Amino acid sequence: MTDRYAVFGHPIAHSKSPQIHATFARQTGQDMTYEAILAPLDGFADSVVQFIAAGGRGANVTVPFKEEAYKLAKRLSPRAQRAGAVNTLSFDDSGIVGDNTDGAGLVADLTRNLNCHLDGKRILLLGAGGAARGVIEPLLEQQPTALVIANRTVSRAQELAELFGNGVTACSFEAADTPFDIVINATAASLAGELPPLSPTLFTADTLAYDMMYGRDTPFLSFARTHGAATSDGLGMLVEQAAEAFFVWRGVRPDTTAVIAALRT
Ligand code: NDP
Repeated sequence: MTDRYAVFGHPIAHSKSPQIHATFARQTGQDMTYEAILAPLDGFADSVVQFIAAGGRGANVTVPFKEEAYKLAKRLSPRAQRAGAVNTLSFDDSGIVGDNTDGAGLVADLTRNLNCHLDGKRILLLGAGGAARGVIEPLLEQQPTALVIANRTVSRAQELAELFGNGVTACSFEAADTPFDIVINATAASLAGELPPLSPTLFTADTLAYDMMYGRDTPFLSFARTHGAATSDGLGMLVEQAAEAFFVWRGVRPDTTAVIAALRT
């Protein structure tokens, strides 16, 4: 029988995940379907339970349900535990298992696709929400010399810095004013077409400015480019986190390069 997978979100119509996973399945010869499911804002858990009853084998979870998915999972992978959020669910006889592939997806995009190695680098992470929290541990595993978290609400950045330790520090957007090798925008500002109050001195010709948002040029990328930095949106992260989820479910690694190129056109 064909195995069923899905992505749950609200809204969900814009999601590229069905297209990405359909391509992965074709590429690797996996007998599976993958659909987008709009879960009611107050009915995420019920939607997942119905999907399992209908034969669902696994699911991705996107905004705004990643923290609910964390609570719903009976077991958590170590990386989901540390991220405090779940974007990948697997359903087996033991119940619902939660994982988080966002951080692995970001690191894969930076290191493999963009050839940007993180060891010995100074990294500035903008934002302290779910996306930022999910990538801290995988970034630290790459052994940067500094990881600074800057956020509009500084106390949230401080909480993350204390939680992860390992020399991670926190500050306001305005207080970050020295050059960084990599500046990652994990705020939701780009969704609103806004630019956090950043200093131009963060960027040099050796800086990579990375926006987790994808699909359009953002004020952040435009500002960084104006001040000399190389730039990338988060499309590669989207495809890489999907590939990692596909691996969790199917035990097969799809080729992401062709999928990223196809989505760009
Ligand atoms: P959250 O709502 O959990 O966090 C939002 C963060 O953005 C907070 O730090 C918040 O600051 C900050 N913020 C919101 N609005 C502004 C603003 N106008 N100016 C400055 N800071 C602002 O969202 P997520 O962490 O889940 O998602 C963040 C972004 O990452 C989204 O754009 C999402 O699409 C993207 N993303 C991309 C992925 C990919 O695969 N490419 C994967 C996951 C996420 P404060 O604490 O002060 O409220």
